[in-house]
Amino acid sequence: MTSIAKLTDKVEHLPGVGTLRATYLRKLGIRRAADLLFFFPRNYENVAAVQGADSFVENTRVSLVATVVEMAERVTQSGKHMLGVQTAAEGGVSVRLLWYNQPFRKNDLRVGQRLLVTGVLRSTVLNWEMVQPTITPLMGDELPRNPEPLPVYPLTEGLKQSSLRGMMRESLPGLIPLVEEALPAAVRERGEVPEIATALRHIHFPPTLEAAELARRRFKLQELLVLQLAIAMQRKARERECVAPACEPTGKIHSRILNRLQFQLTPDQLSAIDDIGCDMSRPKPMNRLLQGDVGSGKTVVAQYAMLLCVAHGYQAALMAPTEVLARQHAATLQRSLSSSRVRVALVTGSMPRAARAETLAAIAAGNIDLIVGTQALLSSELVFHNLALVIVDEQHKFGVMQRAQLRTDETQPHYLVLSATPIPRTIAMTAFGDLDISTIRTKPAGRAPVHTYTSTKEQLGSWWKFVEDQIAKGRQAYVIAPRVADMENSDVASAEGVFKTLRAGPFEHRALGLLHGRMTGEQKESVLTEFSEGRLDMLVATTVVEVGIDVPNATVMTILDADRLGLSQLHQLRGRISRGSHAGFVCAVAESSAAAPRTAATSLAGAGVDVANLGAANERLRAFEASDDGFQLAEMDLQMRGPGDLLGTSQSGLPTLRIANLVEDGPLVELARQVARELLDADPELTNPELARLVQQTLKRYGKSMQLSDVG
Ligand code: ADP
Ligand code: MG
Repeated sequence: MTSIAKLTDKVEHLPGVGTLRATYLRKLGIRRAADLLFFFPRNYENVAAVQGADSFVENTRVSLVATVVEMAERVTQSGKHMLGVQTAAEGGVSVRLLWYNQPFRKNDLRVGQRLLVTGVLRSTVLNWEMVQPTITPLMGDELPRNPEPLPVYPLTEGLKQSSLRGMMRESLPGLIPLVEEALPAAVRERGEVPEIATALRHIHFPPTLEAAELARRRFKLQELLVLQLAIAMQRKARERECVAPACEPTGKIHSRILNRLQFQLTPDQLSAIDDIGCDMSRPKPMNRLLQGDVGSGKTVVAQYAMLLCVAHGYQAALMAPTEVLARQHAATLQRSLSSSRVRVALVTGSMPRAARAETLAAIAAGNIDLIVGTQALLSSELVFHNLALVIVDEQHKFGVMQRAQLRTDETQPHYLVLSATPIPRTIAMTAFGDLDISTIRTKPAGRAPVHTYTSTKEQLGSWWKFVEDQIAKGRQAYVIAPRVADMENSDVASAEGVFKTLRAGPFEHRALGLLHGRMTGEQKESVLTEFSEGRLDMLVATTVVEVGIDVPNATVMTILDADRLGLSQLHQLRGRISRGSHAGFVCAVAESSAAAPRTAATSLAGAGVDVANLGAANERLRAFEASDDGFQLAEMDLQMRGPGDLLGTSQSGLPTLRIANLVEDGPLVELARQVARELLDADPELTNPELARLVQQTLKRYGKSMQLSDVG
């Protein structure tokens, strides 16, 4: 056995490893001794102590107490030595223990000896058997200790659980003393977690499951603390270095802006405006998330912030996730500012070259005050004259990657993020490097209710009749399909296909429009204009309408293949028809095979439509039908799909964590954040030697720049 001196030594030099096993370990990312030590079990096998044959289940690992009755040795046909030990287990059953090629086993055994036996139960015609069990001889009538939980490690082909456990058992005692403690005692006390040596021992070979849990808690806390330290350091640095244009909402400016807004603001809107006004009057960049359910009225709040900049002679930019939405925002702003001197420009990817060049020049020269656009705003060709505010609408569609790129060199603009997907605090804190949060909870008064139904494709006929009724009453309708065009071998609804079918069939006498992402900006705009001016009765679209489209007279929506959409996405879609004073109706249509029978949607039935037995395709659709509360639905979506989806999968900007989980470990995230801030407040340069290892880990993991969005 080679002795190990350093954690950086190659793993093949560890006791019980060797060259062959080292190649398997490498597939698991284990190269150095430290990698093995920090390769944690994904789970534990809790060996249940069983009593009596009643509780025997074939192929389960159990522990039991048994007395040796008889021992026999023989050589099998294939030439192996076999030791068979007949035992009487407590509870009156007999279990035969078998070992192959381990003749020395019999030295531990004698007839009448009591044993604690742990192994996998097999049943043969005559007997219960265990092959190669582990045994602990018991003294006299000694009671066995509760069996220890066994670690279950992730494996790779060729590597057995038992051999990985064996390597761990042999290597850990030599390695653990080499690891230095990174968490100061005070921090461990705050988190109620064990010190490093105990934690390492217990995460691999815990005496109890509780001990394993405490050990895991320690490593989670450490991981989160490193993350939160990175965030806190980044925030400190930003506050120290960054200067933002101060835009104070003086009484005069405040009332001038409010007078320009179309309506009386709700108390929640006013308090959001208050928060924003406070932030923006300081020469430090605002860093705020405004969250509110679909239709809660975030746009006017954004408008207020933009006009605040203009009042101080600065530019403001509003970035939307789709061209449709960018156009609509630009149009709304232009409309409400038409009698003012505020100049608005739209920047999109599909602009003709010459127009684009002209707009960019005007922006650079400071001849434009409000710049609305898509991701095209991130283009390096776009130079602002004096940008004071960046607003990102429907943030969850972007992720956070783009955030840094829009910043200008000298002063930092204020930063406001709008989101209709409520983001749990712990995730927001992490994904956005500690945003302050304003929330709009109550929607503007006077909104008519939205009725939600689910239906199968077979029931569509009667639903179309209902839609026709609504159109006859002067309302407009959306029909949403997941795809743009039909695809071979798939009957997933496409906007083009549905558009054709409906125009040729049930709605041939109506004016239908088609909207999807493959159309040019101009085509989209003209369709949307026609729809919003009431010249189209029905808009067949892909989910591009999901975000932000605002046509109050459109009150009926059909969502085809709704089972393909996420809960938050469905709710966003529904938000399109809860804008005006007429009641809204949305029908989520799913595959009939997945649908379970349900009771009649009574109000529709009352309207004379036969939609009894509308079916919900799955849990999601059922939740969608049952709740109209975006905050509640987002919470469910998060539970069902995880935070990546919520924030826009790949570019969520969330760092990958090894052991902690931002959703499940919420309280630990909070604790880590608190501790990180306290550490920095007490010791701004983090020079305390007790913190040296933690700081080193933070720098190594998140880099000197502390740009969280660069990692993960
Ligand atoms: P979202 O928060 O989803 O972006 P919008 O800002 O698009 O919502 O607002 C939804 C609708 O509510 C719009 O038609 C808007 O004009 C209207 N609205 C916003 N605030 C108020 C208010 N205080 N009173 C009445 N209507 C409002
Ligand atoms: Mg909006």
